[in-house]
Amino acid sequence: MVVPLSSPRVTDITQRAQNILQHLIGFPTISADSNLAMISWMAEHMERQGARVFLDHDDTGSKANLFATLGPDARGGILLSGHTDVVPVADQDWATDPFVLHEGDGRLYGRGTCDMKGFIAATLAIAETVDSDKLTRPLHFAFTYDEETGCLGAQSLVGVMRDLGLVPDITIIGEPTEMRVIEGHKGCCEYTAHFTGLEGHGSAPDLGVNAAEYAVRYVTRLMELREDLIARAPADSKFEPPWTTINVGRISGGVAHNVIAGKAEVEWEMRPVQNSDADFVKSSMARYCADTLLPAMQAVSPDASITLTTVGEIAGLEPMAVNAARELVAELTGANGADLVAFGTEAGLFQALGSHVVVCGPGSIQQAHKPDEYLEIDQLDACMSMLSRLVRYIS
Ligand SMILES: [Zn+2]
Repeated sequence: MVVPLSSPRVTDITQRAQNILQHLIGFPTISADSNLAMISWMAEHMERQGARVFLDHDDTGSKANLFATLGPDARGGILLSGHTDVVPVADQDWATDPFVLHEGDGRLYGRGTCDMKGFIAATLAIAETVDSDKLTRPLHFAFTYDEETGCLGAQSLVGVMRDLGLVPDITIIGEPTEMRVIEGHKGCCEYTAHFTGLEGHGSAPDLGVNAAEYAVRYVTRLMELREDLIARAPADSKFEPPWTTINVGRISGGVAHNVIAGKAEVEWEMRPVQNSDADFVKSSMARYCADTLLPAMQAVSPDASITLTTVGEIAGLEPMAVNAARELVAELTGANGADLVAFGTEAGLFQALGSHVVVCGPGSIQQAHKPDEYLEIDQLDACMSMLSRLVRYIS
């Protein structure tokens, strides 16, 4: 039983999106937990609209991506995409139950209202208005799992789409941008390098392999690469700073002053402005380890090693000279040009698939991940206008 939320200012279609959002907020899809209840509710909704639907489960079977298509069985088309997971509410002080939608002061409160179930609700509401037989191109919907923990769901789904030849001409990722058109963001890649040397007495450094000292040489090489990255920055880069950055966040290792450090770790990240920079840094570091550090370490101790763990790799969204998504969504929203944002999204994965991509969705990133997260109803309204125009454009 759904209690309709009332607001005299909003249109019927926005009201419809609001009612759907009420359902979606009721599914506590924190990244650590299953999203299957929400996915099956949405799958049934899309099937009722006549959509062709498939699910893509993760290895545990407790999470799934949902892909749905309205309109002709043809190549290309337009994709609307959002993630179903939300960040935890533990240790946050909420005025109301985060998993029950509350309305007040023209705002809709609840975990995930702006990041990003509001956009998903908008797409489900617009699906109800589509006459599939009239669509001139396919209208696709992709709803993913585990975005907040490293875009794991989208990585899997994009692989499936590639295998099926599903490459949308245009992709709109509805992360909260206050409906501004976003054409780029840096990537975010996090790594931990583990050094294993050979412990020994500090008075005889030549008899051991000092993992801490090799970690320092590793960090020095990383810092040298910064100069190369500045030189590699695209001439027209609009990012701030315009080049790919590297940050060493944590160094640890060893036990005491007079002991050769047997183990060390370096936690570092980079924020690539172009994906080729990420490849450049990774291959440079791998070569430096294989050609210089490891031979020196293993000359003393054959068991010495360096391993690199990838904590997460979120591809950037590279601003492109030609971007059909930017042109279309700017026209649909009346935006004057496009911007960049500092936060990461799944957009780069869809760009790598060959789609033209923008990020554009209702709500502000300022409200994301916080207690009393909310979405302004005006924002939902603006999103419904954009989607209505989109459907008219392809009908
Ligand atoms: Zn998000």
